[in-house]
Amino acid sequence: MDGDGARGSALATTAPGLAWEYAPAPESRDVVSIAPEYGLFIDGEFGPAADGGTFATINPATEEPLARVAQAGPADVGRAVAAARRAYETTWRPMPGAERAKYLYRIARVLQERAREFAVLESLDNGKPIKESRDTDIPLAAAHFFYYAGWADKLEHAGFGPGPRPLGVAGQIIPWNFPLLMAAWKLAPALAAGNTCVLKPAETTPLTALLLAEVCQQAGLPPGVVNVLTGAGGTGAALAGHQGVDKIAFTGSTEVGKQIAATVAGTGKKVTLELGGKAANIIFDDAPVEAAVEGIVNGIFFNQGHVCCAGSRLLVQESAAQEVTDRLRRRLGTLRLGDPLDKNTDIGAINSRAQLDKITELSAAGQAEGADRWSPPCELPGRGFWFAPTIFTGVAQSHRIAREEIFGPVLSVLTFRTPDEAVAKANNTPYGLSAGVWTEKGSRILWLASKLRAGVVWANTYNRFDPASPFGGYTESGYGREGGRHGLAAYLDA
Ligand code: NAP
Ligand code: MG
Repeated sequence: MDGDGARGSALATTAPGLAWEYAPAPESRDVVSIAPEYGLFIDGEFGPAADGGTFATINPATEEPLARVAQAGPADVGRAVAAARRAYETTWRPMPGAERAKYLYRIARVLQERAREFAVLESLDNGKPIKESRDTDIPLAAAHFFYYAGWADKLEHAGFGPGPRPLGVAGQIIPWNFPLLMAAWKLAPALAAGNTCVLKPAETTPLTALLLAEVCQQAGLPPGVVNVLTGAGGTGAALAGHQGVDKIAFTGSTEVGKQIAATVAGTGKKVTLELGGKAANIIFDDAPVEAAVEGIVNGIFFNQGHVCCAGSRLLVQESAAQEVTDRLRRRLGTLRLGDPLDKNTDIGAINSRAQLDKITELSAAGQAEGADRWSPPCELPGRGFWFAPTIFTGVAQSHRIAREEIFGPVLSVLTFRTPDEAVAKANNTPYGLSAGVWTEKGSRILWLASKLRAGVVWANTYNRFDPASPFGGYTESGYGREGGRHGLAAYLDA
């Protein structure tokens, strides 16, 4: 059951004799060809940055460089915004919605046709397991384009009045945890509503956004409708501050979100912010325990816990706490950590050294503050960025690991006795993005959903996404909604 290096190192299993043996099942890397260098995508063409700057993107599972990518500076931001403005005025805004829809449908279909290529590229650049990029990221990205294609010619019937107008040029800044999916969440509703876009992917995961730019070419999208500017935080700041941008859509940390809000304050630009979270996943003693344990694992170990809505605080009713944590430990012993391209891998690499350092630091703080730390026996590959799945029990609400977003495979377990106490503890956070409730009582679910301060409440499930369903937070988790009809409102002057 043990592998070598980044090729499928597995966590030790439960009792001897119960172990499953897995042979390596690597997805082929050859389905995608990665160029040594990538340019910026401006006005329908790829080209170098004005000052010739580039940076490397690496595979976090091996630290192997994948490609060099152009680093957009202020002059490039200016060119991209100008191209987007031109396309908005001359092509995209005047185009009938039914025509815009055809392009979105085409992009959606090409994403499906090239899904395998996208999945491998996403796993290489991000470190996430292929089964997640293959079964979640890429299909959901295509689904978003399909969904919003359907709205493009029906905007007058979407409940925003008789003639909803697009905003103009949208500057869109996205994080590294779901690179292609976040690009789809941003681009699809903006384009359906008649806006043009300048997209800034995260520095560590630019490659699928660039492949998506190629798909825009393949779909015949008019030049300038979508522009992709690769670069670091400075590129994002230049985009957010550019006066030719009418709307900023940002997904990322609360810290940067606050900076962006300050930048656009008083400019008349519209802004939506999708920020961090510290969600409570609440387990009552009448919950179906096996399903709940799967939900807990999915809630915090999916995508290495690099999920803004991750169920990072487990609130378990005291009478069930022992059973739930015992079963959870046994389940963690069966998770396989290793090569992201292996189809059996459950836990891939941490996306960057900086993120690994943050997870390591917060976990050390949890120990220092007195919580009990546990991980299954686990051999980590020698190269790349890895962190064993970790559970903290005996966590107090004042601990940093109960308050701060770790954004990694680390679960903090707290207990409660009554439903009121569960609500009070769940809401004791500056965030308000998501929550989970596990109980067999429907009335209790409805009662809790009305009390929990969270944009999404999942009942007897976790981390479920659908393009028709709005997503977004309260307070430090940001404002505005993405997905569904609400997601259109963020791109319409209505
Ligand atoms: P981040 O540092 O805020 O980065 C997000 C994006 O903003 C990246 O493209 C980043 O570029 C760019 N950026 C950095 N500094 C900037 C600045 N001063 N002005 C404009 N743009 C700037 O966040 P992250 O560490 O990449 O992502 C993790 C965080 O995102 C977590 O807190 C997580 O909860 C949150 N998140 C929220 C959601 C949601 O839907 N609510 C979804 C995913 C993630 P570089 O990558 O080049 O630095
Ligand atoms: Mg990378």
